[in-house]
Amino acid sequence: MHSSERLLEIAVPTPLRRSFHYLPPDELPADTKPGCRFRVPFGSKSLIGILIGYTEESNTPLEKLRRAEKLLDPKPILPEAILKLCLWSADYYHHPVGDVLASAIPVLLRKGKPGQQVSHRLIATKKGKETDQSSLQRAPLQKAALTLLVRQMNGYDRKQLKAAGISSATIQALIRKGLVRRQEMTAPVTAFSLNKVNSENIMLTSEQEVALNSIGDHGTWLIQGITGSGKTEIYLRAIEKILRKNFQALVLVPEIGLTPQTVQRFSNRFDVPVVLLHSGLTDQERLNAWRMASSGQAGIVIGTRSAVFTPLARPGMIVVDEEHDASLKQHDGFRYSARDLAVLRGQFEHIPVLLGSATPSLESLNNAWTGKYTSVQLRHRPVDIAKESYQIINLRNRETRDGFSKPLIRLIEQHLQSGSQVLIFLNRRGFAPVLHCPECHWTANCHRCDARMTFHLHGQRLLCHHCGNENPMPQYCEQCHAGNLLLLGIGTQKIEDRLKILFPGVRVLRIDRDSTRRKGSLNSMLAELASGGPLILVGTQMIAKGHHFSEVTLSVIVDIDSSFYSTDFKAMERMGQLILQVGGRSGRSGKAGHVAIQSHFPDQPVLKQLIREGYTQFAKNLLQERRDNNLPPFCHQALIRAESKSRTRALEFLEELSANERSSPRVDLLGPVPSTMEKREGFYRAQLLFSSTSRRILHAELDLRIKFAENSKLARKVRWSIDVDPVDLY
Ligand code: ADP
Ligand code: ZN
Ligand code: ZN
Repeated sequence: MHSSERLLEIAVPTPLRRSFHYLPPDELPADTKPGCRFRVPFGSKSLIGILIGYTEESNTPLEKLRRAEKLLDPKPILPEAILKLCLWSADYYHHPVGDVLASAIPVLLRKGKPGQQVSHRLIATKKGKETDQSSLQRAPLQKAALTLLVRQMNGYDRKQLKAAGISSATIQALIRKGLVRRQEMTAPVTAFSLNKVNSENIMLTSEQEVALNSIGDHGTWLIQGITGSGKTEIYLRAIEKILRKNFQALVLVPEIGLTPQTVQRFSNRFDVPVVLLHSGLTDQERLNAWRMASSGQAGIVIGTRSAVFTPLARPGMIVVDEEHDASLKQHDGFRYSARDLAVLRGQFEHIPVLLGSATPSLESLNNAWTGKYTSVQLRHRPVDIAKESYQIINLRNRETRDGFSKPLIRLIEQHLQSGSQVLIFLNRRGFAPVLHCPECHWTANCHRCDARMTFHLHGQRLLCHHCGNENPMPQYCEQCHAGNLLLLGIGTQKIEDRLKILFPGVRVLRIDRDSTRRKGSLNSMLAELASGGPLILVGTQMIAKGHHFSEVTLSVIVDIDSSFYSTDFKAMERMGQLILQVGGRSGRSGKAGHVAIQSHFPDQPVLKQLIREGYTQFAKNLLQERRDNNLPPFCHQALIRAESKSRTRALEFLEELSANERSSPRVDLLGPVPSTMEKREGFYRAQLLFSSTSRRILHAELDLRIKFAENSKLARKVRWSIDVDPVDLY
């Protein structure tokens, strides 16, 4: 090798927090750019990695450097901005760069499939065009084929030729004679035709006009507007503007499957290709959608979390809908926040980013109020749907049966009698969360988790919601063998059961993970709801998102009290978001929505303030509390979690880790402590929390701890991970 040879710096999919150096393969085009895939030897394997840069020097001695086998892409599969986003993420989330890049691309690209849809066309060569066709006098089929190809500058593909009655043998003969050649073609990228904009005859309100006009060429906008205030309409109008300039839009949503109506509005509005990227796709479908986006063919790309890494050939705008939603943060492996990365991507690509929510996260509100984001407010609903009213039903000194108090039953009755629908929210699926022995107070627990087993009617089984563990319902107490076991607590199935007794003859629909397992069942229930008539809908989180149920005039939150017991500093923020999200599902023109919340703490000040003064005031106060207590967003946090099959090892590892000297007095360590649910899926879990007012200092500290961990013998006996800006602190 020449000592002047440039070395390739390649991110290889391994759990190691580093990239690797390789000698270039033979015949590497000089203009090969970072973002291209290479096949490289790794240990005894051959893996596909991504070039992230070049280097002249390496810590690895020259004689030990191995040569990359092969370049796989003629041009980068990841454009500069996306590569930069990935490298930034690997750094910020302290996650192995190879794994970050692997998670950023579709599975089939990891396996080496081409990054572009290529088709082969047959084209007449120069010689073919100039040749005297009489020389083909004795091969009339070849002559006919050549005549056809000469006339068509861009040639034809095999299918078209076959349709014209030309066989492959004929073509092969022409290729051998040098009269025709095969050429790889990528689908042409054309300007978007916006001939049909189906604007649903909507005239923007002046409030919406102001909002839309405030959106500029780059920067971040926080669009705060109650449900039904026309946020989606703003996204659509803003996207229309950028489509007219032939740019593409990326729209991130928490869960596509739950909100088919929203997706439909995007695809019905414009006659440009719209592609969806979500977990329900096959590998091939995902690759196709990715190619449509990255080649520039798709006008709108709608996707969940991981779509934030999808390349766009002509990026124009990013929209993050329901920006407060916890599912925008990845909860395992590479724990990134798709919302935060969307904002960063917007900066890298110099395009506008719209964050929208009825109940923005406190971080985003803080960013808007400190001027980092432009704040846009929609205070009114364009169609005359009255704002819903909220009421707390005091449960103190009041009996309930299976979750229903008397006043609640009366309220439901009234709404049903007036011909409308009622929505009942309870975020606990199954029938009863506790199986209890009244003799010895034994409860049925999961042996793999510190959690109770939930009784499910279907199959009469006990199910652990944390690990999926399943047991038949026992007849006798495991401890004292008494036979009179009791089912305590309420789940959606019990609510459904009770409603059928309370309101015989009224249709009850239940939407939760159990009732929607069958494909199409969610959609058919949504259709039944939309068709009207008195009906009660019971559901979990799944009904709190995105939908608008126009026939519902009463939303009920059966139980809010667990928020008041939570030790998580985000519990109140979540409670407020949940109440308003559930509340916002109801109401239609002419009939105002009504929201009833049952609580033993009707005077809880935060709850009262939310209802009386609205979300903004509520959020202001919570932010003030966060500031006073030095909590995010006024400090930055990271968690190191560890888990092990042995009861003590995870904790021991974290103790060893925390015993090391801090890099700066400006970092606070909390713990290590066992996790709230210490045992889960057979693993004992513990955690160590780092916080600092300086991001830079926090990250330096994490770098240091990772070094310790990588040299620790104990670390090899546990599974450990880092979560930067954790959403869940358990
Ligand atoms: P959000 O996303 O804030 O919940 P949407 O954009 O979905 O609100 O608007 C709610 C409903 O109001 C939709 O049915 C939408 O078509 C309609 N809408 C939005 N803007 C207007 C407007 N300016 N005039 C009439 N209807 C509108
Ligand atoms: Zn379990
Ligand atoms: Zn017992």
